[in-house]
Amino acid sequence: MAWTAGIANFFLKSVCPLCQRPAQGIFCRDCDRQIDAYFPGQLPQETGLLPVPVYCWGHYDGALKRAIAACKFQGAQVVAQSLGYKVGAWWRRDIGQAPAQVVIPIPLHARKLQQRGFNQAEVMAQSFCRLTGLRCRPRWLQRIKETKPQIETRSRAERAANLAHAFALGAMVPPQSVMVFDDILTSGATLREAITLLEQHQLRVSGVIVLARTAVMTH
Ligand SMILES: [Zn+2]
Repeated sequence: MAWTAGIANFFLKSVCPLCQRPAQGIFCRDCDRQIDAYFPGQLPQETGLLPVPVYCWGHYDGALKRAIAACKFQGAQVVAQSLGYKVGAWWRRDIGQAPAQVVIPIPLHARKLQQRGFNQAEVMAQSFCRLTGLRCRPRWLQRIKETKPQIETRSRAERAANLAHAFALGAMVPPQSVMVFDDILTSGATLREAITLLEQHQLRVSGVIVLARTAVMTH
């Protein structure tokens, strides 16, 4: 596609955010290859973690893990964009047909958004939607409670309490099917909470798209 080439050209003289070497696109060729090595080409799966099929681009490890970490620094939005395009390109090539036309990224709480400057899941979802032609609707879901990172919780009960009522609907939306987008799938607790809230408002979640899934599940 001509316009993706345009984006690559725009960043032509950039430095790879993972290794600081000169890069042709966002990443240098070496890191790009290393990231792609974590792409297993999974088709939608019943994970047992979520009540809906999961479309997962890659394994959360190695260069892909480093690239996701690089998104968290301010100004690294291009990294998130680039990763979103990878998911979009995969979708166009291997999946094509979407079970819903609307994609809702998992939101950050306003305070965290202010600290970080952008929501990486939203930036990835926007890029994904630009390539796939699906509609990105980041305002439909809001995070109304500041939650601890799930990794800092000590028990299943604490994890559940941490996320309870974390989300609210951000807009009046007619009933329809949607998909939800997040960067990382670990235990699935955040996504489950978001799916529950959306379904309470007649938004049927027909799939979850994630950039990467961790190998170790926390329960
Ligand atoms: Zn590199």
